[in-house]
Amino acid sequence: MFDALSEKLELAWKKLRGQDKITETNIQEALREVRRALLDADVNLQVVKRFIEEVREAALGSEVIMGVNPDQQFIKIVHDELVKVMGDANVPIAQASTPPTIILMAGLQGSGKTTTCAKLALYLRKQGKKPLMVAGDIYRPAAIDQLKTLGQQIQIPVFDLGKTDPVEIARQGVEAARQQGCDYVILDTAGRLQIDLEMMAELERVKATVQPHEILLVVDAMIGQEAANLTQAFHERLGITGAILTKLDGDTRGGAALSIRQVSGQPIKFIGVGEKVEALDPFYPDRMASRILG
Ligand code: GDP
Repeated sequence: MFDALSEKLELAWKKLRGQDKITETNIQEALREVRRALLDADVNLQVVKRFIEEVREAALGSEVIMGVNPDQQFIKIVHDELVKVMGDANVPIAQASTPPTIILMAGLQGSGKTTTCAKLALYLRKQGKKPLMVAGDIYRPAAIDQLKTLGQQIQIPVFDLGKTDPVEIARQGVEAARQQGCDYVILDTAGRLQIDLEMMAELERVKATVQPHEILLVVDAMIGQEAANLTQAFHERLGITGAILTKLDGDTRGGAALSIRQVSGQPIKFIGVGEKVEALDPFYPDRMASRILG
């Protein structure tokens, strides 16, 4: 499963074969290989440092299992720690005790936010739910039409008021969902090219007005190590409840995934794996661990 890293670690361990104990000195080289693998996967340096310390502690605290090579045992420790950092299991989307469940989608322009609104709506409908999408990205010129077109394509209604106050759009959108007996309302919001105070202030106002059950940060996996800063900025201001990592069909090794939970404590709930509206999968930490290790 972790062929590339396995090979490198095997070299690091070769001279240690026959030793029956993992020690501070004999894991140095192996830790260096893990560090390199993570940096190659474009994981943020601070995140890597913290992770390596955790692996070191776990490895030193572990007993050598008879009959298992230390390199294999070490790899298992790394894998298990990666999974732990990303949250063990898949965390499903929230469900409000009184519908509709309100989902606010946040993220930078181009991250895939509008597309992901439609993907999520389709996913929920396949679960037997009734979603409504709300077109709240009033700044990116084509965003409202884009969401409406996607809505037509998957036959899921889109609420829109044109280019008016985004807070009012969200408020009325939630009200419409309530009146139409929808289970979920997915609010598309305006992104900017960079983290921006105005964008954050606007999202805060939308949050205060509709009090969403989920605030999902949409993160483009291609931004790699930048995901740490991005997540931190959004989490500090908004208090995200989870993330969706998009564009994992590209050649990224998914290092961004490692930063998100470590920085915010919140799980990745879904991954985007293509441009098509069906291309959304629940996030599984163990699969991502394999991908990151390469
Ligand atoms: P927004 O500005 O955040 O609303 O971004 P869009 O939803 O318009 O997406 C920007 C571009 O990314 C579009 O061309 C989408 O088709 C593309 N996109 C979104 N998600 C994915 C994904 O998971 N994989 C791929 N390959 N492209 C995606």
